[in-house]
Amino acid sequence: MGRRSGSDGLASSGWIELRPYEGLYCVSCEAYYTEEDLIDGSLCPIHQRPVEWLKEDNYFFKLSEFADRLLDWYEKFPGAVTPESKRNEAVGLIRGGLRDSRLRSQSNVSGLESAISLRHSTAKA
Ligand SMILES: [Zn+2]
Repeated sequence: MGRRSGSDGLASSGWIELRPYEGLYCVSCEAYYTEEDLIDGSLCPIHQRPVEWLKEDNYFFKLSEFADRLLDWYEKFPGAVTPESKRNEAVGLIRGGLRDSRLRSQSNVSGLESAISLRHSTAKA
């Protein structure tokens, strides 16, 4: 298939997933918008031109699967984030549900891959 090498290792980790994404897309911004972001629900707020409905395969980083781990971390190290109000804000956000983040390009995938493998090796040490 059209999948480029380099992403396979990360894909097999289960943290990265290739799945179709669709939404309102501005070609000039190379970015997706939600209807609320648009002028009159149909124009790009930056270019003031119509966006189009686009569907494409995208890599997603399964951030949502890290929620429990993050909450554990905040519990274990209560002093790590100060002031406490910031910490509570972060915990609240995580409890509210993390959304998987869309990786915009292959270079994002590669960068993330090296970041994760780096963390893996330091965690084992
Ligand atoms: Zn635009």
